[in-house]
Amino acid sequence: MNSILQQDLNDFSNILEQTKQKGIDFLNNIESIPTSNSYSIDSQKELNQLGLGSLGALEEFNQRLAPLMVALPGPRYWGFVTGGSTPASIVGDWLTAIYDQNPQAFRNQGGVSALIEAETINLLLELLDLPDDFTGGFVTGATMSNFTNLGVARQWFGAQFGKDFAKNGISETINILTATPHSSSIKSLSMLGVGSQNYTLIKTIEGNREAIDISDLEKNIESLNGKPFILISSAGTVNTADFDDFEAISELRKKYKFWWHIDAAFGGFAAVSEKYKHLVKGWENADSITIDCHKWLNVPYESAFYLIKKEHIHLQVETFQNSNAPYLGNPLENFNYLNVLPENSRRLRALPAWFSLKAYGKEGYKDIIENSTSLALHFANALIEQEYFELLAPIRLNNVCFTLKGNENQDKVTQFLTQLNDGGKVFMTPTVYQNRKGIRASFVNWRTSEQDIRIVIQEMVEVFQEL
Ligand SMILES: *Cc1c(COP(=O)(O)O)cnc(C)c1O
Repeated sequence: MNSILQQDLNDFSNILEQTKQKGIDFLNNIESIPTSNSYSIDSQKELNQLGLGSLGALEEFNQRLAPLMVALPGPRYWGFVTGGSTPASIVGDWLTAIYDQNPQAFRNQGGVSALIEAETINLLLELLDLPDDFTGGFVTGATMSNFTNLGVARQWFGAQFGKDFAKNGISETINILTATPHSSSIKSLSMLGVGSQNYTLIKTIEGNREAIDISDLEKNIESLNGKPFILISSAGTVNTADFDDFEAISELRKKYKFWWHIDAAFGGFAAVSEKYKHLVKGWENADSITIDCHKWLNVPYESAFYLIKKEHIHLQVETFQNSNAPYLGNPLENFNYLNVLPENSRRLRALPAWFSLKAYGKEGYKDIIENSTSLALHFANALIEQEYFELLAPIRLNNVCFTLKGNENQDKVTQFLTQLNDGGKVFMTPTVYQNRKGIRASFVNWRTSEQDIRIVIQEMVEVFQEL
């Protein structure tokens, strides 16, 4: 063994202890660490001839790289839809690296970590009150989950014409209908060879809504003259957390032939609270659902899962199976993740979610979800109490979409947000909503409290007054 490796092995306990100390220093100070900085990196391109050893590398990390880290898992990172990491999820993430398993088959693979993954999916189905006629697996994020789900939808579309697109390529125009797709669904259509422009945009409900207009949807379906299609629907749009009407879509299933996909990356967690559960009523009738864990489940990146109805397992295997040889046996009995999703080798990505679900249970997650939603309302109320801000949309769940009051201030929105974000106390995302420049704050992090809202409102007023 190389002597530096040998030394590290002998000193492993001390190395991990020092790493833990570094980690706890960051986490215990996260409230005072800025949410943004403007440092750049004095890139050192040369690889040392002799290594530094773990402690040497840690020393360099502490000096050069740690100061670049922003408080992304902290309570005031409200940009995009950004979760933090619960203590138990960090434990699960550490152990994922330590045990370094490769979950694939349920049987005959040496290890059976795939069973832990399946167990975690079952816990998640229970948390979200979804039936067990879905199978699911972990992927890196909602983008890959949309890719996986839409990949199987593509195969389903071909099958309606007796064609195997996975084997022979796409040879029919695929009809896709959607109202407010997330950019990652469009990216998936591009990656899947469907084409990022090959979809029909359905109207949204009139007024301040981003949800699909069911009558316009039906009009567009009728114009397909009985041809099959794929519907990409939304459980939680990023701007205003709006939801398509899943009961109405469930009704359409009785009349028309389509693959129903729901992007529920963060909005699916509405199911955890009795107060918000009505928003996803009927979603169990979908063919496929995308859900992120590194958002509202508050586990570290990279964590999301797909859900696909068991009845489609053959289409799923046709899409992702890792060899040209025919699949042996019933794919549900002879299960192997390798044949049902994009990656082959994978880490035990389920373990952080497993730990967090076990540690906090249904009640813990209900509290996280309801804390986020009540903070969103609280922030929205605090905003409109100030004379400088106005809401662009009602608060439906956890996202607050607002702008500077008055059209005369539209020119100042970008500068306001830049200065606010540069201050490092809070981070928010720019958006355009109904042709107006706006700002989006998303409440997802388990640590955020009313105190954070006071800090942010004060900061916002100061930044506005200094414009
Ligand atoms: C965040 C998000 C995505 C993309 O998720 P990643 O985890 O960043 O890949 C897709 N859809 C919706 C609705 C989202 O909020």
